[in-house]
Amino acid sequence: MRPQIVAGNWKMNNDLHEGRKLTQSIKELQGDIPADVTVILAPPFIHLAEISREIMDTPLKLSAQNCATEEKGAFTGEVSASMIRSTGAQYVIIGHSERRSYYNETDDVIYKKIQLALKNDLYPIVCCGESLSQRENEQYFPVVEDQLEKTVFKLSSEDFGRVILAYEPVWAIGTGKTATPEQAQEMHGFIRQKIQENFSRDAGENTAILYGGSCKPSNAAELFAQPDIDGGLIGGASLKSKDFIEISKSFSK
Ligand code: PEP
Repeated sequence: MRPQIVAGNWKMNNDLHEGRKLTQSIKELQGDIPADVTVILAPPFIHLAEISREIMDTPLKLSAQNCATEEKGAFTGEVSASMIRSTGAQYVIIGHSERRSYYNETDDVIYKKIQLALKNDLYPIVCCGESLSQRENEQYFPVVEDQLEKTVFKLSSEDFGRVILAYEPVWAIGTGKTATPEQAQEMHGFIRQKIQENFSRDAGENTAILYGGSCKPSNAAELFAQPDIDGGLIGGASLKSKDFIEISKSFSK
């Protein structure tokens, strides 16, 4: 059975004090989450060590939102995958559409980051998804396939086994517009089929594919009930502990 995962991407929100308070509130409420759901917090880099200590005795997991393309050295302002791992974090989000569009991250850059994450014992949560014009022009399948071919489909099947995918249609991120469960399922089913073609039937069966894009308590259950949706990557709603916990309790399968 595939893992069920909810990951909260705080983006550039919450100073350290606020981040600690949000974590404490999530900790207080997390007893309500079924034990087979993996809940991951992805705060800004600067909070990782502190929040790692905060969640030490809980089932909550920790992720960074990005990592450097280089291992170490003279790269002022960058944070390496090994530094992230040393905080206790086990995951890193790679290829988020905000990084692709605001920081010009190409698929080559994303592939480098995925390799470094894997080398440093992190599970990469790799994002893919089409823009509004690509959706409207019905190019969404080739766009997503191309993103996967240039990144995760270049990995060995052993490395690919550690990857979590997140389908995040760019037009649904932070816009309040959610993909319908049917639109999301259609893409998740497509991605799973491509994984099977590129790797194996087992790889297709075992890879967790999360949905991201204006997921909230009112729509999470319907999205997570789809056969190929294994959870969510949550932006805005992860900043409110009650909403985040509600979403984490929205699995029915
Ligand atoms: C995201 O940024 O990964 C995201 C899904 O954001 P939101 O939930 O706010 O749309």
